[in-house]
Amino acid sequence: MSSVFVSFNTKLAQNVLNESYNFAERAEIPAFGKPAITAVCMTKIEHIGIAVRSLEDAVPRYEKLLNTPCYKTETVENEKVNTAFFQTGPNKIELLESADPEGVIARFIDKKGEGLHHIAFEVADIYSEMERLKKEGFVLLNPEPKNGADNKLICFLHPKHCNGVLIELCMSKEVTVED
Ligand code: ZN
Repeated sequence: MSSVFVSFNTKLAQNVLNESYNFAERAEIPAFGKPAITAVCMTKIEHIGIAVRSLEDAVPRYEKLLNTPCYKTETVENEKVNTAFFQTGPNKIELLESADPEGVIARFIDKKGEGLHHIAFEVADIYSEMERLKKEGFVLLNPEPKNGADNKLICFLHPKHCNGVLIELCMSKEVTVED
């Protein structure tokens, strides 16, 4: 299965690369020196993650705020986190509640309180982006992509190299290939 994902996303990445080369050519984007702008590797903000103490409390509040129902809840076992998703226009909000008192979200809230936890960028090819960012000196919090919520492969970057913001890279696994 994983080789299917890889080949699909390599193709997708190539399309994005081709598109962005064309775009750069058309728009005559000046090079800003190192690193050269050669491709749009992060295609959009995929979602914004917000740490909450209790989904039971936060979900109805965000349903009121956004005037839309939560469309999905999911527990990510390896992250010890319960998530709830909202779609508002083209944008997605992920609420995160710790599923374990020792989990990363619990520790985050103990230290900083509830609030903005991370910004997730969609990438066409998470493997090449992780490689690129590592070369640029960013610190990857997981050396291999791991399973995230909402059918994604994800990787976090250490916030100390991103001006205090925890950055998530995510790549969709949504490929359905009939055997
Ligand atoms: Zn996220």
